[in-house]
Amino acid sequence: MKPQSFEYVRAGTLDSALEILADAGDEAKVIAGGQSLVPVMNLRLARPAVLVDINPLAELARVEQRAGALRLGALVRHRTLERGEVGGALGGLLAEVAGHIGHVPVRVRGSIGGSLAHADPGAEWCLVALALEAEVEIARRGERRRLTVDAFLDGPFTTALAPDELVLGLELARRPGWSYGFAEHARTHGAFAQSGACVALQVRDEVVAAARVAVMGVGGRAERLGPVEAAVVGRPANGAAAAAAGACREVVDPAGYDEVSPDYLRALAAAVVRRATAAAIAAPTEERQ
Ligand SMILES: Cc1cc2nc3c(=O)[nH]c(=O)nc-3n(C[C@H](O)[C@H](O)[C@H](O)COP(=O)(O)OP(=O)(O)OC[C@H]3O[C@@H](n4cnc5c(N)ncnc54)[C@H](O)[C@@H]3O)c2cc1C
Repeated sequence: MKPQSFEYVRAGTLDSALEILADAGDEAKVIAGGQSLVPVMNLRLARPAVLVDINPLAELARVEQRAGALRLGALVRHRTLERGEVGGALGGLLAEVAGHIGHVPVRVRGSIGGSLAHADPGAEWCLVALALEAEVEIARRGERRRLTVDAFLDGPFTTALAPDELVLGLELARRPGWSYGFAEHARTHGAFAQSGACVALQVRDEVVAAARVAVMGVGGRAERLGPVEAAVVGRPANGAAAAAAGACREVVDPAGYDEVSPDYLRALAAAVVRRATAAAIAAPTEERQ
């Protein structure tokens, strides 16, 4: 199928993009990499009357190192992160995660802001941003706001974003002494993951002092697993992966779908949490910038 006809507008400035969105209301859609929107338009699941192309807005494509934080513009491509544009332990995590998203052509075009706004339950960036307690910067005409990723993500393919709002970027804290791990399971190379986990840990004197654990594939969106974090904190580092997996198995309650049973999804979640925790234990820690 082909999309319904639409007006195409190439945004010259951020202000003009926000003006168009404000005037068009829910008739308009932003297009970034087009890797999710175009297929959805071809299927006529989305029928925008106006398409606002934000690709000319170079200020949205910047990777900025700020004091104690990394700021990624909404138009930063998956491939940019995969290529190691960001240094340190956080950069290593982002490069690894980006390599799991689709195939190279998807990663060259697809953007981190588009991934967040699209909010696919299997989107790696939603999972990672949640685990790392990132904040989303949002703008509409005459107004800016910031939301935690937890507040930003609603359910499958739904967010707190209003139709006239634009994601400007994402801010991730740099935490000296922390390390990161990621693991996912996809049925075939390049496919969306069935399950995935991202873990951030602070280990002091071989004991886990703080933990952030998020998982996807057990519900309509990525979730932080507070009881798993609590089960890991205070453990010797060498027992953390097993403890995390055990607690995950207890706490997740997936619904299952088609031929995929809840038990299988629970076991899968525990397996990726175990792998991501072990990876975080083995990973280098973030250094003071
Ligand atoms: C074959 C294939 C495999 C894929 N595999 C994966 C995968 O394994 N994991 C994964 O996470 N993704 C996967 N994707 C999706 C890919 O990561 C997309 O790049 C991403 O979901 C959307 O980014 P985009 O820049 O292409 O956004 P677009 O497709 O341009 O837009 C997606 C949605 O976000 C909105 N939007 C985009 N940017 C903004 C913004 N700055 N502010 C507000 N709204 C915005 C659009 O209006 C639209 O609703 C795959 C895609 C394909 C085609």
